[in-house]
Amino acid sequence: TLLNFGQEIARNAARMGDKPAVIVPGRTVTWSDFGAMVAQVTGKLRAAGVGRGTFVATLSENSLENVVLFCATLSAGACVVPLPFSATSEALTRMMSDSGAGMLFASPTQMDTAKGLGAPVLLDLSDLMDWAADAEPLAPQEVQADDLFNIIYSSGTTGLPKGIIHDHRFRSRQLARITRFGLDQDARLIISTPLYSNTTLFGMLPTLSLGATLVVMPKFNTIEFLDLSQQHALTHAILVPVQYMRLMAEPRFDDFDLSAYQCKFSTSAPLPGTLISKIIDRWPGNLIEVYGMTEGGISTALNCTAFPDKWDTVGKAGEGIDVRVIDEQGNELPAGEFGELVGRGPSMMPGYHNAEDKTAELLWTDAEGNHFIRTGDMGRIDEDGFIHLMDRKKDMIISGGFNIYAADLEAVLRQHPQVADAAVIAIPSEAWGETPLGFVVLSNGADTTPEDVCAWANERLGKTQRLSRVIGMDELPRSEIGKVLKKDLRAPYWEK
Ligand code: ATP
Ligand code: MG
Repeated sequence: TLLNFGQEIARNAARMGDKPAVIVPGRTVTWSDFGAMVAQVTGKLRAAGVGRGTFVATLSENSLENVVLFCATLSAGACVVPLPFSATSEALTRMMSDSGAGMLFASPTQMDTAKGLGAPVLLDLSDLMDWAADAEPLAPQEVQADDLFNIIYSSGTTGLPKGIIHDHRFRSRQLARITRFGLDQDARLIISTPLYSNTTLFGMLPTLSLGATLVVMPKFNTIEFLDLSQQHALTHAILVPVQYMRLMAEPRFDDFDLSAYQCKFSTSAPLPGTLISKIIDRWPGNLIEVYGMTEGGISTALNCTAFPDKWDTVGKAGEGIDVRVIDEQGNELPAGEFGELVGRGPSMMPGYHNAEDKTAELLWTDAEGNHFIRTGDMGRIDEDGFIHLMDRKKDMIISGGFNIYAADLEAVLRQHPQVADAAVIAIPSEAWGETPLGFVVLSNGADTTPEDVCAWANERLGKTQRLSRVIGMDELPRSEIGKVLKKDLRAPYWEK
């Protein structure tokens, strides 16, 4: 059965009454109040001509208004376009016109940028409820399974961001899958990454659709996160690895009561084993690592707590998800071999927005004519069906004819007792074509040098894997969602 997200919100508002729907620091909104806010804004949006086939864009940090508008846009039958405020104004202008959004809501801090993006109508998101005050509240509109739900611009970790379309069918299937992780209406789940990332929506959408409680952090900070967790006896969290890293380095971590936690998720970037062991030792509840891509197709999960010997994997493919491994020429590889992962499942995006050629490039077709999504990620499936994920294809280092996985080298660097974080890239080499270069962030109070770390790591690496050099950094360049920006690390070495 098709889940109409707007109808779920209205139904939950009616049956959950005084239970908190959304909590932002300093303000708790009950389900009945939240439902009323959404209905009010839905009415105003409809009166302003927003409905099926139209797009509403936002440029804002997380806020109550942002969540209300997200739900109201869907309730009005329209498509949500949360723009990534970390992008340049040039890229945002392109996204704004590419999306075809007729309206842009910006928060006060984003308003200056928003003014230059060519939006036909620009409104202040912080005034949302005042703006909607004169409208008649409206119930959710009917939608069809293939009506658009949202356009998410890909992180642009590897190149230009692509507009990824999700329709209502995609989202309802994804929600069905997430509830299998044990999320129910009693959950209190916290999000702290921006709404324009699928990682965030992976937590936010099921929480609201189940009638549970969503805690929204406008900006992540370790003490505030721990404080909210204790104060509201939070049960679930969606976090990215760099946030776990900061939490584990927080001197006051153990002062907080986190005993209500049932489950926390990590996704969007590799979660090193050294970090997993710290989290499991100090934080009650299961730790689940999730691997997937905004385009859909593939999705895996590893319960790190239950499978301590599989921490170097991202777990098994979810039910109904078919994962294969292919070589450079697109031939399927035998079980156990390394290659590019491709996946097919109930949730696959209908396509990139306005980019049929890019959508076609993304697909791989098996002998039976089934379409799979190419992940661009290298990996292999072990004899137990667990997926070992190595680098993105673009991050692999090809040196003297050997494929070197940066992930292997990063794992060795991280084992050094005084290394807090590490990344490895390919740089040009006259002798080998490419050669690995390491970057490390040393732990606080470390008394070693990057040169010593390099020698230490090279003693432990295979002959063909050795690092040419290791450079110390205060921190690695990361995207807003916490992914290491290897293209930025590579840039100075590959100019011309
Ligand atoms: P772009 O496609 O614009 O370069 P992106 O691929 O980073 O951006 P997302 O869809 O947000 O955009 O991220 C999906 C990618 O993130 C995956 O292909 C994979 O490389 C990486 N990823 C996701 N989850 C994990 C995980 N658990 N461990 C390691 N990498 C992960
Ligand atoms: Mg991608």
